Amino acid sequence: MQKLIAGLHQFQKNVFASQKELFERLAKKQEPETLFITCSDSRFSPNLITQTAPGELFILRNAGNIVPPYGTSTGGEAATIEFAVLGLGVKDVIVCAHSQCGAMKALLQAPNEEMPAVSAWLRYAETTRRIIKDNYRHLEGEAMLTATVEENVLSQLENLRTHPSVASRIARGELFLHGWVYKIETGEVFSFDPEVGQFVPLEANLKGIAPPARTVHAR
Ligand SMILES: [Zn+2]
Repeated sequence: MQKLIAGLHQFQKNVFASQKELFERLAKKQEPETLFITCSDSRFSPNLITQTAPGELFILRNAGNIVPPYGTSTGGEAATIEFAVLGLGVKDVIVCAHSQCGAMKALLQAPNEEMPAVSAWLRYAETTRRIIKDNYRHLEGEAMLTATVEENVLSQLENLRTHPSVASRIARGELFLHGWVYKIETGEVFSFDPEVGQFVPLEANLKGIAPPARTVHAR
């Protein structure tokens, strides 16, 4: 805790003072263009890996970067997504998973009776578990975990589309979804490319994964 207090003092003295204009502007309003949905894991920071400043990313973090389908949960996820899309008008939504995800490791194991809340939460990733169990039997260890992390990004993007605000903006061509995996070991980011059906290094793939299936013209 002492480290955090010292950090706060350092921030106020050095960082806040040197970026006063930015923080004064942010005191009036926020205009982030991206909703960044990711895992709570402490080993990476959305702002650090994307080199963004306060005000640029609206961030939703939880165990396993999970998005409960619309209407199935009274948790804060639906409200956060709805506000980002309708209230802030974000243009992109990124679901960003990461290597070595503890939630995905837990998903591959039997439910832990000592952590009933975790087991209940992971039911929102049941599609991922089922896809892995039925289709990736040939994999094990690290390869199985990587496949789980990647499949879960795709499952959660599908869940995201069940949210009316998201579906409507996608239909208008005003919102794009992206699936990323951050590799803790190397700092690289891989992005899902729907044309090749795989996660590829991000530099090669800046396309959103949800071009509108049908176009609704904005009035
Ligand atoms: Zn994780």
